[in-house]
Amino acid sequence: MLNIVLFGPPGAGKGTQSERLINKYGLVHLSTGDIFRANIKGETELGMLAKSYMDKGALVPDEVTINMLRSEVLNHPDSNGFIFDGFPRTNAQAVALDAFLESLNTTISVMLALEVEEEELRKRLLLRGQSSGRPDDVNPEIIQNRINVYNNETKPVKDFYLAQGKFVSINGIGEIDEISNRLYTAIDAIK
Ligand code: AMP
Repeated sequence: MLNIVLFGPPGAGKGTQSERLINKYGLVHLSTGDIFRANIKGETELGMLAKSYMDKGALVPDEVTINMLRSEVLNHPDSNGFIFDGFPRTNAQAVALDAFLESLNTTISVMLALEVEEEELRKRLLLRGQSSGRPDDVNPEIIQNRINVYNNETKPVKDFYLAQGKFVSINGIGEIDEISNRLYTAIDAIK
């Protein structure tokens, strides 16, 4: 199985690049943000809970997120592998993901981290806000909060994979195709 953590701050291009990777490598795309948004749209209990955090640019509690992620993985028993997009976002999530994958006799193959500096992220997110319909992309304060949450809570997750020799940094600046090619090269090197 090929299990990829696609890592990076909000606006780094994780969603765009995930679409390309799932087509090229036949993987299942699990974006926790997308799953929460689908639940908000469907007005589920989980959606209402998630919305109260997402609207502020805060993280949804670990226990809720981890349980949801586990059930999504179990929904795809015949998968060749997964792209985890936007998960894990805390060390507790990374530890839980490792234990869960081990129980399924598999593991994370690689963490690919899209590196983009903050000023560029702010620009991209505001631009995306004009068309994405995402309330958390419109307000500069909420965008800044998401970037701060990334720096404080999510960035340290890279050390978890660094310690396992699974961390690969990818330059996230440039043409979309160019960045995809960097990702393909990194994946083909570990396959
Ligand atoms: P994203 O679509 O990845 O930018 O996520 C949008 C929002 O969903 C985040 O700002 C969080 O509020 C929530 N979210 C997504 N993934 C997670 C996660 N792994 N842990 C906690 N909250 C998450």
